[in-house]
Amino acid sequence: MNERAVNEKQHNNNHEEVPRNPGEIVYYGSRLFNPPPRDGRCQCCGRHASEVKPYGGPGDPLVGDFSGVHFVKVFRPDALPDEETEKALSEAHEVFEKDGFASEEEWLIHKYGKEKTEEMYLMSQMANTVHKSWECRDCVVLYDEEYFEKYMANQKDRTS
Ligand SMILES: [Zn+2]
Repeated sequence: MNERAVNEKQHNNNHEEVPRNPGEIVYYGSRLFNPPPRDGRCQCCGRHASEVKPYGGPGDPLVGDFSGVHFVKVFRPDALPDEETEKALSEAHEVFEKDGFASEEEWLIHKYGKEKTEEMYLMSQMANTVHKSWECRDCVVLYDEEYFEKYMANQKDRTS
């Protein structure tokens, strides 16, 4: 599956669960070796290529031959889905017509107010938008929840 196909899939299926297996490789083949991280660091844990174990060999979690490569490109959402927001959006989707509203947005604004509605749309959009992330073999297997935890800890370490 190429990058465009993934993006289209996500944008077309806002209400469907996008498969997010740990370390799922959604972009691979020769293009994998396109520009690696500029600073030579894992974009999750922040360790430098010289500090991480390269892919390949026993215990390698990936399908395909990435032997000797330090970082593999995967996709991560811009934010974790917010349960309350997702619930509100799907409720709006189901009942706005029955409740006599012209759109889901009108229903949401009526119930939550304009500001909160805009905030929920933004959060949902972020959870459904992915970005490229070059990760070492320790990070690539993380679930998104774990990825965010590690990523945030790394950001904190590097700025303090
Ligand atoms: Zn890492």
